[in-house]
This record gives sequence, structure tokens and C-alpha cells, in this order.
Amino acid sequence: MANGILVYGEVRDGSLKAITRELVGAAAQLSQAGAGPVSIGLIGEPGATTDAAVAAARALPVAKVFVARDATLGSYSTQAYAMALQAIIAASDAKVVLFGATVLGRDLSARVAARCGASLFTDCTELAWTNGTLRVKRPVYSGKVILELESTAALQMASIRPNVFAPAGAGGSADVVDVPVSISESDIRGRVKETVRTSAGKKDLTEAEIIVSGGRSLKSSENFKMLDELAEALGATVGASRAAVDAGYAPHSMQVGQTGKVVNPKLYVAVGISGAIQHLVGMRTSKVIVAINKDENAPIFQKADYGVVGDLFEFVPRLTEELKKLRASH
Ligand SMILES: Cc1cc2nc3c(=O)[nH]c(=O)nc-3n(C[C@H](O)[C@H](O)[C@H](O)COP(=O)(O)OP(=O)(O)OC[C@H]3O[C@@H](n4cnc5c(N)ncnc54)[C@H](O)[C@@H]3O)c2cc1C
Repeated sequence: MANGILVYGEVRDGSLKAITRELVGAAAQLSQAGAGPVSIGLIGEPGATTDAAVAAARALPVAKVFVARDATLGSYSTQAYAMALQAIIAASDAKVVLFGATVLGRDLSARVAARCGASLFTDCTELAWTNGTLRVKRPVYSGKVILELESTAALQMASIRPNVFAPAGAGGSADVVDVPVSISESDIRGRVKETVRTSAGKKDLTEAEIIVSGGRSLKSSENFKMLDELAEALGATVGASRAAVDAGYAPHSMQVGQTGKVVNPKLYVAVGISGAIQHLVGMRTSKVIVAINKDENAPIFQKADYGVVGDLFEFVPRLTEELKKLRASH
């Protein structure tokens, strides 16, 4: 009978993405409840980049690292990756497969679940293992309703929301199992041709430790550059409210909130953002929240650890200036 949990390891440039560590953390909880050992499945082309990902995965607290290497797997293709992961699942004999609810994870999990005849719960925030089966919770209607679901399928899959589970720490030195795959170019009907980084050198919002976000009050994309400078001084990534995105001041990739990204930085600086519930659900787990707003009654102050009541156009440039001085003196 199938046993154990397989985590799909998302990789970027040979490094494991933060979500992979979080999935291993989530899988460890299931394992402790009796779901069996935790393994990681990696997919890539033969060479140094995949070797680096395998080395990083081996250092996590997992029993085995399954890896499918093939020349067709250099860049992401739904068909090729789904075929490779299906082979890995068969080799691992897992009963549960976990994905990140990321753009790639959402795409791949649906295809793999269909190919394997598995159940798939998406965007989960809680997992449990009871009576030999997977139980999940997933919020719907902006978190107003929590669905509790249980699968009876032989193979059970779930995608997990980023920044919900604590990442796994260091582990031992897991065994590596090479999984042979046979994929031809004719199996591939579309693939990622180019990945363009929108925030040159900056961490993605979902992985950033410091975020400076701007709202409608910035009034123009030109004024958003003020936040770029503050972010530069803080080593932060810039985000935005939906109102700022809808007004065309920032791209949707920068949107934080219910219909944007869910973030979990150590420091979140909300600049001229009112604090609507749809924004809060995307950033309320931030460790420290700083709000800058000229309205002392703005709802964001109820969530903020530190608040500045003032005009952002006066305060932000002065803050940036002071931070630059501080940096220069250290
Ligand atoms: C289905 C649905 C999904 C949504 N999803 C999202 C989402 O994912 N993310 C999101 O952010 N929103 C989302 N929204 C929109 C959300 O309800 C709010 O409309 C939005 O967050 C407001 O953005 P804002 O705070 O920038 O603008 P506003 O609400 O207009 O607030 C601007 C704030 O700036 C302050 N301000 C103005 N001038 C200055 C100044 N000079 N200096 C300092 N402060 C100043 C004001 O006091 C005010 O508090 C969603 C809404 C719906 C219905």
C-alpha cells in the first residue's frame, strides 16, 4: 500500500524556492501523525543547476530525494513536467503529494492530479492526517468561510498557500534516487521560452523579508519611484495596493492582498494605504507593520505596530535620507 508524502521541489536557478522548505515543514507534521516518510521530487535537465538543487534538497530533513533529469526538462513545460512528476510519484510510492500554491504549482498540480486520477485540494492553509487520510482546511470568500475537506482517493494531492507553514530547518543527508523518464519533444505542446525578472535583483514579494507598499495616495507611477528609493535604502521589495494597481501606478505583479500576493515579511511598511480587509488578508501575518498615513483614523493603524500620522510626500523622502545616512555611517 502506498505510503509517505512527496513534496514537489520548486527550483529557481539551482536554488530551492522558499515554498519548498515550507512544504517540507508541512509534510513533517503529516509524517509525525503517521503518514509515512517525507521525500522531495525534483525535475530538471542534467547538469550543474539540477545538481545544485539536489544538494540543497538532500540537506533538508527528508528521507529521499527523487530526481528526474532529462534534456527536455531544462525549462518549464506543463506536459513534460507532469510526465516527469508522474514517474517520480510512481517511484516514490507516495500516498500524498504536496505542491506550493504558486503560479507553477497551481498549473502543474492540476495536470498531474488529472494524469494520476488523484484528488487535489488547492490553496490549503491547514493539513492534518487522520485515520489514514488527508484532511485540509482552505479559506474561501476572502477567509470568511473555511472549508474542511477530506479525501478518500488512493492518491491525495494538495497545494499549500505560501507563507503559512514554518520552513523546515536543516536535516541530514538524504539518499538520491534517479528516476528514468522518457519524454520526446513531440510530447511538449508549449514551454516557457524566457523568464523576465520584473524587479531586477530584488526578491519576489512572496519571499521578501522587507516590503514597502504604496497605495492610491501616491497619485502616479512617477511618484512610486519615491518608494523605490526607500526600498533601496532598506533592502526591500516594493508592493502596491489594488487601488494603486488599478490606477496604473504599479503592475499587478506588485499587488498585495486577496486578489494579489500573500506576503509574510519581517517588516511591512504601508505607505498611504487605508487598510481595507482585502489588503490586510495579504499582509497581516507580517512580523512588524509600519503604517504611514495622513488620516489618524485609517484602519491600517489598528493592525500597525508603529504608525506615522503625516503626509507621505514629506515623510518618505526624509526617512529615505536618514536611512541613507545611517547606512553610510556603518
Ligand atoms: C473582490 C475584491 C478584491 C480586492 N482585492 C484587493 C487586493 O488584493 N489588494 C488590495 O490592496 N485591495 C484589494 N481590494 C480593494 C480594497 O477594497 C481597497 O479598495 C484598496 O485596498 C484600497 O487601496 P488604497 O488603500 O491604496 O486606497 P484608499 O482606500 O483610497 O486609501 C488611501 C489612503 O491613503 C491615505 N492618504 C492619502 N493621501 C495621503 C498622503 N499624502 N500621505 C499619507 N497618506 C495619505 C488616505 O488617508 C487613505 O487612508 C479588493 C476589493 C474587492 C472588492
